[in-house]
This record gives sequence, C-alpha cells and structure tokens, in this order.
Amino acid sequence: MNPIYRYIFPNKCMFCMEELEETTTDICNVCYNKIKVIEETFCRRCGKLRELEDDLCLDCLTRGHEFEAGRGVFVYDDRVKKALFGLKFYNQTWIARKMGRIMAEYYLEHVGWEIDYVMPVPIHYFKYITRGYNQAGVLASYFVKAYNEQMVQYQGNPVRLLKKGLKRIKWTAPQKDLNPETRYKNLENAFIVNAKIMDEVKNCNVLIIDDIYTTGATMDVCARQLKTAQVGKVFFITAAMGSGL
Ligand SMILES: [Zn+2]
Ligand SMILES: [Zn+2]
Repeated sequence: MNPIYRYIFPNKCMFCMEELEETTTDICNVCYNKIKVIEETFCRRCGKLRELEDDLCLDCLTRGHEFEAGRGVFVYDDRVKKALFGLKFYNQTWIARKMGRIMAEYYLEHVGWEIDYVMPVPIHYFKYITRGYNQAGVLASYFVKAYNEQMVQYQGNPVRLLKKGLKRIKWTAPQKDLNPETRYKNLENAFIVNAKIMDEVKNCNVLIIDDIYTTGATMDVCARQLKTAQVGKVFFITAAMGSGL
C-alpha cells in the first residue's frame, strides 16, 4: 500500500489502535467481542439503552424532546471513548471513515427513517480554525458517502449532505462540565439554521449527526432551530450513546 495513503487511512482497529491484518474489517477480534452495539432494548424515542424493549427512558417520559427520534450505535465505554477522543482531539479523522460507514450500515439495517438531508452538529468557527475539522462533519461525510452508495445499489433515494446547514454562533462552555439543566441554558441561542438553505429544507426530513449523545440538550436545541425553519421531521444518529441521565 502507498505509504502516504497508509498514513491517512491506517489499517488499525479504531478502538485499540492495533494493526489489522485483514483489510476487510475495522475492528480487531478482541474489541469486536467487547464492544456493545445497541440493537435490541433501547428507548424508542432517544435510543438510550433500556432494560426492556419498547420502553421510554425516564428522560423522555418526563421532559420530552424537540426531535422525533434518534439512535446511537455503540454503548459509550472506555474503548469507544478512546476512539472518539482520538477523532476529536488528535486529528485521527481516519476513525470517522470507519465509524461513519458503520453508522450508515447500522442506519440502513436497524433504523431506516425516511430522510432527505443530513447535517452535522456544528462547532464554533474559532474551534474549527484551531482543530482544522469538525468531527461531526467528517462523520457526516462518510455516513452520506456509504449511505448513498447503498442507495444506488438498491435504487433508493440518495440523501444530501448539508455540512453547513446548521451554524454555531455562540462560544459555549463544554457540555460535559455542566449538569443537565444548565446544559440547555448554556446552548441558548448557540445555533442557527443557515439562511441560504432555508427554502431548500422546508418540509423535508433532516438527520442530525454527532459523535455522542448524552442528555440530548445539543440535539434538542438544533432540532428546535430546524423546526422553527419549518423542516419536516428531525431525527439524529450518533456514533455513541452516553449514560448521562
Ligand atoms: Zn481492537
Ligand atoms: Zn429516551
């Protein structure tokens, strides 16, 4: 393999960083047996792991959400945490290539809500400049690529990626340092829908993509903005589901 290609797209397990011998897999055998994919018992609104099937979590029962429904692929454990940390802070965008594809496969196999547009949760411009990329944006790109490739195969409708469909206009404190109530307050007026795409997305269904879902504050605030812009239904998918709340 070309060494530069190998550097950009290393053939490593995205969870433990071990070199993989096979080129057809993204995860080593050890991690494959440890990682938990959320496939059966989950909250039918927000996708959080539940003990019983067809059940709403406490959060969805008491608070309700602005989005229609959402799902996370992996249970957020130490391995998933490490992978998402590398993707977010250490330039390991190759992880998004594998993760985005897995998210698309998961979506097509287990979810399948009808969607027209995909939008990543945006980061603030200053953060974008220093980091050089938005991790949710990279995930969304690979998600859409894999999704549309499958759609061509099955003659279904492709989705359109609107990387800048949502904009972050306020610099906010990291959500992980805040309790659930202040998380909503912290995000007040933080996002807007890009005025350039408002007409296009009207009455269309939107899927929001992010790396992790915890209390849902970010998704709710983004969904509210999209609803104000008169889109149809708002769904989300994240790589991982946190256990917050
Ligand atoms: Zn591994
Ligand atoms: Zn829920």
